[in-house]
Amino acid sequence: MSVAENIVNVRKQLPSEVKLVAVSKFHPVEAVMEAYEAGQRVFGESRPQELDKKVQQLPADIEWHFIGHLQTNKLKLVLPHVSLVHSVDSLRLLNAIDAWGKTNDKVTDVLLEMHIGAEETKQGLYEEEALDILFNAEKWRHVRIRGLMGMASHTDDMSVVRADFQRISAFMDYLKDLFPEYEGFDELSIGMSGDWPIAVECGATMVRIGTSIFGER
Ligand SMILES: *Cc1c(COP(=O)(O)O)cnc(C)c1O
Repeated sequence: MSVAENIVNVRKQLPSEVKLVAVSKFHPVEAVMEAYEAGQRVFGESRPQELDKKVQQLPADIEWHFIGHLQTNKLKLVLPHVSLVHSVDSLRLLNAIDAWGKTNDKVTDVLLEMHIGAEETKQGLYEEEALDILFNAEKWRHVRIRGLMGMASHTDDMSVVRADFQRISAFMDYLKDLFPEYEGFDELSIGMSGDWPIAVECGATMVRIGTSIFGER
């Protein structure tokens, strides 16, 4: 099936209020253009250099999201282009994005990437760390925290995946109750090609889908 057909298929199943982030990493600009021509406008990339290159070659009305691990020395390749960074996984990165924003006069929307999967090495913040950040959120004037992002455990056991998504979704609800004054804190980015229908059931407001749209990388 073509990229355009895949997009139509996903869209058909996705509730209209859930934002589709088409993950185009490792796929050429031609594939992105195919999705663009099918009406897709939001794309996710996970490598700074690749993002920077694609931005130069593709239409200006694309909304770029950064979803990969971001090193603080790569901010200038990413932050000028993106409307959302899904993957703030450390206090150090949050501080660096804020400092970059101060210098460059830009407020960046971000999500806090949570450690929800079983993998020991998986990056992401623990709940206490995220709480600590949100209690001090006014410290970061050039960052707006819009919600949470998470990746489920890497397993075929969908009950484990569901439990991971339910936990981050419950934490999101808890935070919204705890910080009612924090406007715009309402995005939950969970779900990829293999598990997005479960993520939607668990309250996803955004899904990040690569393989089911563009094929294998
Ligand atoms: C690559 C990637 C995706 C998309 O994964 P697919 O399984 O290809 O849909 C989603 N989120 C993140 C953080 C990724 O790195």
